[in-house]
Amino acid sequence: MRSLFRKSNYLSTLWYQLLVEFGFLKLSKAELDVLSTYFPYYHRLSLKFQREFRERLVLFMNNKSFYGRGGYSEVSVEMKVLISATAIKVLFGFPKTITLSHFDKILVYPDRYYSSHSLQYHNGEVNPKYGIIVIAWKEFIKGLNNPTDGWNVGIHEFAHALKIENKIKYNGEYGFLMPMWWSKYVHLATDELKKIKEGNSIFRSQARENIHEFFAVSVEAFFENTIAFKAYHPEMYECLVFLLRQDPMLLYTGVNVKKDANEKEEGT
Ligand SMILES: [Zn+2]
Repeated sequence: MRSLFRKSNYLSTLWYQLLVEFGFLKLSKAELDVLSTYFPYYHRLSLKFQREFRERLVLFMNNKSFYGRGGYSEVSVEMKVLISATAIKVLFGFPKTITLSHFDKILVYPDRYYSSHSLQYHNGEVNPKYGIIVIAWKEFIKGLNNPTDGWNVGIHEFAHALKIENKIKYNGEYGFLMPMWWSKYVHLATDELKKIKEGNSIFRSQARENIHEFFAVSVEAFFENTIAFKAYHPEMYECLVFLLRQDPMLLYTGVNVKKDANEKEEGT
């Protein structure tokens, strides 16, 4: 088994940031083709934000190590681009410095896999101890192919990673989820968890396990079931707009999905 070494560190991130900033590191034509063909979120951004998306994507891809598992000898360009683009979609409202740097290894399985850790089959997983995010490709593609069913393994796992990264202090990438909005969100989520248990909620049943699962499932709904989510629970939707610092609803109106980066940031 190949050893999993830490690829991302402060210096390597800084180096890649400089290469991107000065235009020495860009998406290849093949990578751009995959992004343009299969990732609608990118198309709905303004040209200015599309450029930012590409820069953040190439930085993310270069800062992570991708490993094939379960029969995959390598991870294809298509897999790297679409998995990374899903991460950037979740992160896009935050400053460029938020890159989930603790999670520097991404493992890709062909299909659902058996986890020796949980002794269960999984579509994906986040392992903070080893800085690993795991994705089952077949399930990931199912989620990508249906962008309006509120079910997306990639968004789900990156939402888990985001919540964990927010608490990890050693790399300076923490505390970016505004506490005031998180407290309000947890308060609302606690009530909603009861509704899920009664079978009376738009959130799918996986959300009822705990607040962490609820958060990941609600972020899936935020991006994929946007209009219904906002109509069903506008207060919770608003919390996620402020927590993730972007509003997918604006994609439907043709307005930019987040504030201009030059505008003053609210909170930390
Ligand atoms: Zn989960």
